[in-house]
Amino acid sequence: MEPVKAIERTKPVDAANKVTPLIPSITKPIVVKEKLVVKEKVMEARKLSLSHVESSTGFESKKRTAHTATFKTKPTGPPIITPSAKYNIPLKVRQLIATKIYEVYARIYKPISDKHPTLATEHTKEQEEKILSSTTNLAGYKQMAMSTIMSLKKRPDSTGPRDIGIDGKWADPVAIKKSATALYEKAQQHLVSLDMLKRLEYPLPELLGAPYEAHGAIVGTLHACDRCKKDYLIKDVLDKDDMDACVYHPARIKIMKIDGLKEKVYGCCQDELGSTGCSRGPHVYKDSDLNILHQKIRYVRTPARDVNSSTRQNIVALDCEMGYTTAGMELIRLTAVDQDMKVLLDELVLPSNMIIDLNTAYSGIKTLEGVKYDLDGLRKELFKYIDQDTIIVGHGLENDMNALRIIHTKIIDTVALFPHKSGLPYRNSLRGLSSAVLKKFIQTGTDGHDSFEDARVCIELLQAFIEKQDKLKNK
Ligand SMILES: [Zn+2]
Ligand SMILES: [Zn+2]
Repeated sequence: MEPVKAIERTKPVDAANKVTPLIPSITKPIVVKEKLVVKEKVMEARKLSLSHVESSTGFESKKRTAHTATFKTKPTGPPIITPSAKYNIPLKVRQLIATKIYEVYARIYKPISDKHPTLATEHTKEQEEKILSSTTNLAGYKQMAMSTIMSLKKRPDSTGPRDIGIDGKWADPVAIKKSATALYEKAQQHLVSLDMLKRLEYPLPELLGAPYEAHGAIVGTLHACDRCKKDYLIKDVLDKDDMDACVYHPARIKIMKIDGLKEKVYGCCQDELGSTGCSRGPHVYKDSDLNILHQKIRYVRTPARDVNSSTRQNIVALDCEMGYTTAGMELIRLTAVDQDMKVLLDELVLPSNMIIDLNTAYSGIKTLEGVKYDLDGLRKELFKYIDQDTIIVGHGLENDMNALRIIHTKIIDTVALFPHKSGLPYRNSLRGLSSAVLKKFIQTGTDGHDSFEDARVCIELLQAFIEKQDKLKNK
């Protein structure tokens, strides 16, 4: 494998803000030729509703004296209702209802009507059609229309282009924020205790105060290979012979049915346990002593809370992938998702030492081409989203914290949240938890882990855990 040379550190380019049109363009209303009376009524209704808009504007301007109501682009008015062959509600009634609905939407969308002048018209049309399609007779239609209008009247003015939607689809942003805060508050109750963090071998703040001791695996010393378990001499530059000195099985042991009997075999080649390795590569090693890790690449604490930050998250799930370098294992990929499972970061990372093996069978990473960050740069990015108050969620997260060299104590680890029935050191696998708790089957491919999937599953497991707690409380 080619050693990766130092790369120029460049600022990441922000994902291009792809603007998809918020509102589909409105189709021209079809004029009902045979019902001229209706058409006239419509025009009248339009005038009426416009005058309503203006009068309500007048009222608004009394409250906000600085603003006078002049629309840069005029709202398009109530939609013209066209007959439907499927439903036999009189057109006159439908138009009247549409006009009433429009009055409410004109009020709700007034703060954004400059930029979205057709929105009230479109949503009125959609809303009326929804009422129509969910009723079978006139009485039902009227009743449904009234309750919809009542519900719409209670709705606050739109706060922005995301705060839109017809009744039944719209979600109150205040309520959404409240439920997000509620998840954070509830999750606080299930943080891994300091004692448990120690047992799980998390890096803790006292590590930063520990004196440096120069020991551990260094060039010219013997170390057990992480794969073949044989001792080998550690070098900083590998020659051709070193690159295939190790004979090993790259995949984990799995249980397979052979001739009706369950047998333990290597996942890579299905050979029996103890057989000679099916692959060749360099010997590799990893450190597990936190002091040695700290001595090689220093740990840092997550930054203090910054209340002014607009990007800091309450909950973030992480998943890291690691590869072997001449100095042990190092971070090569980080994925971070927020509590809505939206990706915050998904980046390759350039290790500090020469790469020996990307550990593709586990990491799923075949190349570091296009890498933009080293560990420092990546942590800077991550700290835009994480501070000391953020709850970091993950599975066996101590590995991730060690790879990132981050010291953080607000942790939810699915290993501790769903402990193995036999207790530590036994641990449930993420794959096992996902199928048992979420009925979701993950890591089924042969390309190694999918960090995004793993991080997302951790959030889902936390949500499932809290839902279960809520149910138990309410019993
Ligand atoms: Zn094998
Ligand atoms: Zn080896």
